[in-house]
Amino acid sequence: MKFTNLTRANEIGANSYLLEFDGEGRVILDAGLHPRREGEEALPNFSAIGELPADALVVSHAHHDHIGAVPLLVRRQEKMPVYMSEATHLLAEPLLHNSVEVMLKQRALLGITSYPLFTHKEVDRSAKSYRICRTGQECSLRGDSDPKGEPLSFRLYPGGHILGAVGVRFRYRDRQILYTGDVSFQEQTLLPPADFPLDGIDTLVIEATRGGKATPENQRRPMEIERLISSIEATFRRGGAVLIPVFALGKTQELLATLYLEQKAGRLSRCPIAIGGLSRSFTQVYDRLARRSFRRHPGLSLLEDVAPTVLDGRTIRQLSPKPGELYLISSGMMTERTLSNILAQRFLPCERHSIFVVGYCDPNSPAGQLLQTSRGNLVALDSESAPQPVLCEVDQFDLTSHAIREDLLAYILRVNPRLCVLVHGDPPALAWFQERLRDERPGLEVIVPPPGESLEL
Ligand SMILES: [Zn+2]
Repeated sequence: MKFTNLTRANEIGANSYLLEFDGEGRVILDAGLHPRREGEEALPNFSAIGELPADALVVSHAHHDHIGAVPLLVRRQEKMPVYMSEATHLLAEPLLHNSVEVMLKQRALLGITSYPLFTHKEVDRSAKSYRICRTGQECSLRGDSDPKGEPLSFRLYPGGHILGAVGVRFRYRDRQILYTGDVSFQEQTLLPPADFPLDGIDTLVIEATRGGKATPENQRRPMEIERLISSIEATFRRGGAVLIPVFALGKTQELLATLYLEQKAGRLSRCPIAIGGLSRSFTQVYDRLARRSFRRHPGLSLLEDVAPTVLDGRTIRQLSPKPGELYLISSGMMTERTLSNILAQRFLPCERHSIFVVGYCDPNSPAGQLLQTSRGNLVALDSESAPQPVLCEVDQFDLTSHAIREDLLAYILRVNPRLCVLVHGDPPALAWFQERLRDERPGLEVIVPPPGESLEL
């Protein structure tokens, strides 16, 4: 069996990996786009797949860094089935069409001539290759749901990260390989924790996002929510507004549900909550699958019960923050030219307002830069405007949808595989796991797969 890392670096980038089961099947895991690179540099290294066709692509979840390059793989090989959960299937469409729009804008604005990397038509065409798999159902690479006697089959398990996120367990002869995708072992407001198998896994391909970040006991999710609510209340009391930069998919819906439940419990004042248009499309899927999918609070309809105001890009570009209002606007890292970046520049000059960061944040992103700037000092949130002083309150709350490193380590030790392949982590994160696993389980083989190389597993 062979594993090839199709990313271009050991980091949190464009996820894609190739698993080859001798002559029995070649399966690609995820096909993402790099969140911080542009043009073809943002793509995985698909040339490492080689000339042979792949038998299937399995997509773990609908975040851009896992699904953003799917239309390009389908273009390469039109007949290849693309397996995913029902929610990922529904989320893929608005996500990939939005991606085409963003690339068209970047082409016009920045002159990136390779954009768009794919067209709206190709997004629609690739949807014809999608095959929905139910979690817990054993499937063959041809999509049969009862692959008895087949040497190779796979099964999806709920990953707890965002709606529809799954881990994939392959059964190949007498071996079992689990690819976690992005995972959360802690319950979130809308999502129960991952429900992954514990026994019989000999090879674990596991994400390492938070390996570089210790989680203090007093920084667990319920306490962070309590601290966030009291900081929002303090902002409202002094006549300010709150901006929470969020990923449109996942974090927006988690926060809508969390804020609603806090309001219902009387811990947060009723206040207008605004989201962006793309977030509404994803929220519709969360509502549509509330009762059918692996989701908590099945009776809660986010668009009806929380009833956020939906703002379009033009309105947000002209908006002055109003006291007592809450803005959940993407992108989560306040990437340049996104609406949260533009809006943040209107929050900075007013000391009554607050910007609260709640998710994963690359230190080099505008949100990462802002978090490292003390109040009163200058920050440049985009390359075109002059740096401006940070006068508003800025704080960070750990409401991650990724497993904390302590949980990932505990899972690896509990599964006790023969081989552990670390992916989706920056170098310090990977190093932490390598060191801890060397100490705790000296016999365990731990691999950080070099980009572009095929490893015999
Ligand atoms: Zn993700």
